[in-house]
Amino acid sequence: MAELCYFTGPMDCGKSTLALQLDYTHSAGGRRGRLFTSHDRAGEATISSRLGLIRPAIEVAPDFDFWLYVVDELTSGERIDYLVCDETQFYRPRQIDQLARLADELQIDVFAFGIMTDFQTLLFPASQRLVELCDKIEVLQVRALCWCGQRATHNARTVDGEMVVEGDQVLFGDTVAFGEPGLTGEPTEVVSYEVLCRRHHRRRVTRAVAQATLSDPLPFGRDGDDEALG
Ligand SMILES: [Zn+2]
Repeated sequence: MAELCYFTGPMDCGKSTLALQLDYTHSAGGRRGRLFTSHDRAGEATISSRLGLIRPAIEVAPDFDFWLYVVDELTSGERIDYLVCDETQFYRPRQIDQLARLADELQIDVFAFGIMTDFQTLLFPASQRLVELCDKIEVLQVRALCWCGQRATHNARTVDGEMVVEGDQVLFGDTVAFGEPGLTGEPTEVVSYEVLCRRHHRRRVTRAVAQATLSDPLPFGRDGDDEALG
């Protein structure tokens, strides 16, 4: 029985590294697979990990149809045993339905990797669909830590260094600036992401805020559970 497996965790927990390793393991075992991604940090049609591994992949556009793609490949004599799908939070829910159908009707294993919740702690639509349809969910061991040393479980978005809790669900960041191309050379807003523990996500205490706080009198007072700030 082929399975649809969903591997998830916050940003920086090693999902893409595991995706590439899983592909390596299966292809070394003689199986044939295909890699897919959407808006990888290194650009289109690439799966890259923070450890520096990089592999070409098929870019999943909103109108991409996994079912038709695989049927076309099989019809033209190609063999496909499994699919590795990275950055699944950016897919469309119906694309997740296509992946489930491939597992059920064509016996193709699907390994899906992605973030479950956005910077507002809400489920991405495709992530919700994966939770609803997958055979099993594996929550990856969190390697990333909040600045306080707790496990970093929530994704925070910052704009020009300030944590924001409103805005579009999908906004690419890290190295990307957005805004009107500066004819005047005006700097545009810089979007970035940081992983925090839930407590500091709720309080909007990013690393930068914490550092500023440490040099000032404590703004929160000592409420007993905030040793990390004091
Ligand atoms: Zn924290």
